[in-house]
Amino acid sequence: MENRQIFVVCEYKKGQNTYRDVTLELLGKACELKKQAKDEFNLEYEVCAVVIDSGIDADFCTLSGFGAQKIYYMKNKHFSDYNCVYYSKALVELINLKNPDIVLFGATDKGRELAPYVTSRLKTGLTADCTELALVENKGEIKLAATRPTFGGVLMATILSKKNPQCATLREGVFKKCDFIPQNPFVENINFDDTFFDIKSPKILEKVSEKEKENNISNARVILCGGRGLKTKENFEKLKKLAKLTGCAYGATRGAVDSNLAPYEVQIGQTGKTVSPDIYVAFGVSGAIHHILGMSSSKTVIAINTDSNAPIFKDCDYKLQADAIEVLDKLLKKFS
Ligand SMILES: Cc1cc2nc3c(=O)[nH]c(=O)nc-3n(C[C@H](O)[C@H](O)[C@H](O)COP(=O)(O)OP(=O)(O)OC[C@H]3O[C@@H](n4cnc5c(N)ncnc54)[C@H](O)[C@@H]3O)c2cc1C
Repeated sequence: MENRQIFVVCEYKKGQNTYRDVTLELLGKACELKKQAKDEFNLEYEVCAVVIDSGIDADFCTLSGFGAQKIYYMKNKHFSDYNCVYYSKALVELINLKNPDIVLFGATDKGRELAPYVTSRLKTGLTADCTELALVENKGEIKLAATRPTFGGVLMATILSKKNPQCATLREGVFKKCDFIPQNPFVENINFDDTFFDIKSPKILEKVSEKEKENNISNARVILCGGRGLKTKENFEKLKKLAKLTGCAYGATRGAVDSNLAPYEVQIGQTGKTVSPDIYVAFGVSGAIHHILGMSSSKTVIAINTDSNAPIFKDCDYKLQADAIEVLDKLLKKFS
């Protein structure tokens, strides 16, 4: 039986001893593809995590427990800080050496920079911001079918890459991690000598560390999202207050952001963040497709809207046809 590889390019949070959630979600998706390949096409795929690091505290047990059968560990002092030129050169080297079928990146700031660098050097295609991946048979070959929104989110396009490796970036919060099953990690070290890094690369002039966010919508279990239906900044302040009182995060639609009711960093949707909380409460949100794309994997959706025909009512578990501002006031009274 043929043995093919799926690479997952990992992102490690230095100093916090954890991987970014998207890394574990990509491993979960890679494991699903492996299972589909075996069940439907009798093909054996190997899920491989790629770690690029200077060797400070890479934790391999997490990767193997979440599905990585093999870990390629590229350790070098030049990797201590993310540097797209060094990282992409090393990844291209590894890909040329191991010839994987599929390479997955997180659609994060780093992944969105690194993936195009790598794919342009390899002269292969890249499907960005995918919301679904599956294997399909096409002209006698098994290909990665990568689905992503297109035409401003009105349509979904499924794209097959003509060349290998087939590469994709995937948003954080869209895919599920596998259950953690402790496994002994199998690590293969990939070494580079210093001449490998004799290339021009950007110099880092200053490092500014990101402050821990008070309102972290990416990992929140409960999100209160305000739309243009909240009408004023004052009402948005009430939403923020309720979120703080109840230990939730608050988010906003683009409609609310464009109306200066909330900052862009809390925008949820196609051009904002993708979230998958346990509970999502929409206050005065119409439910445009661009918004739904960013929150459709929420477990339970509660929508409050005055309009019985609001599209959000088709995408929710509980609907409340009411004035969202009045509901907000009542909840604030209850929790204050
Ligand atoms: C390329 C592109 C990308 C986009 N990306 C995003 C994105 O990332 N995120 C996003 O959200 N949007 C995005 N949009 C915009 C999106 O199409 C919608 O315009 C936007 O989501 C609407 O925001 P809204 O629901 O707050 O406002 P509206 O559409 O104006 O809806 C307000 C809702 O509030 C209800 N309402 C009014 N008063 C009350 C009240 N007192 N109580 C209860 N309900 C009330 C109304 O019935 C209505 O349903 C994008 C658009 C494009 C073209």
